[in-house]
Amino acid sequence: MKSESSIISPRQVPDELLKKYQRPGPRYTSYPTAPHFSAEADFDEIARRWKGSNGENASDLSIYVHIPFCRGRCSYCGCHTVVGRDEASVGRYVESLKSHADALLKLVDGKRPVGQMALGGGTPTYLTHAQMRDLIGALRDRFIFPDDGERSMEVDPRWIDEDYLDLLLELGFNRLSFGLQDLNETVQRHVNRVLPFEKIERLMGHLKGQGMDALNLDLIYGLPGQTPDSFHKTVSQVVSLQPSRIALFGYAHVPWVSPHQKRLEQFGLPSTQERMELFGLAFEQLVDAGYRHVGMDHFARQDDELIQALDSRTLTRNFMGYTTRRGLDLVAMGASGISSVAGTYAQNAKELDEYVEGTGHRWIRGFAMSEEDRLRREVIMSLFCNFYLDIASVEGPFAISFKDHFADELAELSGFQEDGLLEVREGEILVTDLGRFFVRNIAMTFDAYLRKETASGDRYSKTL
Ligand code: SF4
Repeated sequence: MKSESSIISPRQVPDELLKKYQRPGPRYTSYPTAPHFSAEADFDEIARRWKGSNGENASDLSIYVHIPFCRGRCSYCGCHTVVGRDEASVGRYVESLKSHADALLKLVDGKRPVGQMALGGGTPTYLTHAQMRDLIGALRDRFIFPDDGERSMEVDPRWIDEDYLDLLLELGFNRLSFGLQDLNETVQRHVNRVLPFEKIERLMGHLKGQGMDALNLDLIYGLPGQTPDSFHKTVSQVVSLQPSRIALFGYAHVPWVSPHQKRLEQFGLPSTQERMELFGLAFEQLVDAGYRHVGMDHFARQDDELIQALDSRTLTRNFMGYTTRRGLDLVAMGASGISSVAGTYAQNAKELDEYVEGTGHRWIRGFAMSEEDRLRREVIMSLFCNFYLDIASVEGPFAISFKDHFADELAELSGFQEDGLLEVREGEILVTDLGRFFVRNIAMTFDAYLRKETASGDRYSKTL
């Protein structure tokens, strides 16, 4: 572990670098990124690759199930959600998830163990007890879940009680993520998401009492109404609960994609400098409390498996965030879910009715990667997750000379080197501690699609 004195706080990042690198850019949950998926994709080729991924050397599966329902809309939210559906329509959705699973099982072998399952949303806990039992039972009937697999869920703590948590434990969930965002009442009212600290304290206490310690808490900085003092108190309260992981996301204001976010402008959004101040203070507080910075925006307790993955440079990233489980084929069920199998991406129908009424694999957009895409994905994910690239790890498998293949990109990296953000050495590229705050900009150098675009301003949130 690094000594605290060698860790650079975001508050030490020079203003001129912030100004220089402040531009829209992707968060690389995939490469190529989702805007490049197409309705014109060759879905037969995608299905053929899925089938080809089965067999003796098949990787394990990762399953993602998207539950789009929410009771109300949080003003900062950028997710695909459906507000206020009744129990019967949620029941129909659960039935359609089952029929979708059956259709996907014609493409992937259900005997491949499920190393990871995640339920996200929306609000997965919108399902009644009976619906949740029914859904998980149906998945267990169709797939194989080994004991050592990770089974996680996003939980909205506002609408859950101890009985529901007990149900999740009984159904085998072994990691739960709670969306808090901020614990200050004024901020909570601004963003239309009110949750008293006492409630989350009680729920966490209940889970810890049952021996469940794999608990994540999510925070967002950059929301209206946040001040250094108020956010300091929020982070202190979060640390007092000792979650194993804390996500500290920067609020992405993209009202051209999520028009309801416009509502937040009336309260005044923090400037870039104010955002960095909030991030920096929280960063220092978490490091002081013994958490380690993982990837772009996560922190983990020293005993969490993300730390081992970070130290062994095996951390990776998918649509659900950072993960230690590399190389799994990700199969997504549910409206708007995105699968990533055997060098392909495939997104399910986004609109609820379209998804529920659909048959077969229900894909509406997709992408079949070329060898060049796969190579660039390796480079981007390694830099993005592990702040490091072992050049031999891509030269061998992709039969390239890195220096020749990426001559233009290496020339561009010299700018980052001059700014102290990166070191290009014999056989490796290393992002410096300062460079970690600009890893999106660094990764973008290797994004062939971004290089072709003249203006990416409308698609992505700002990098800082
Ligand atoms: S933040 Fe969560 S609960 Fe709120 S609207 Fe978005 S998905 Fe729903």
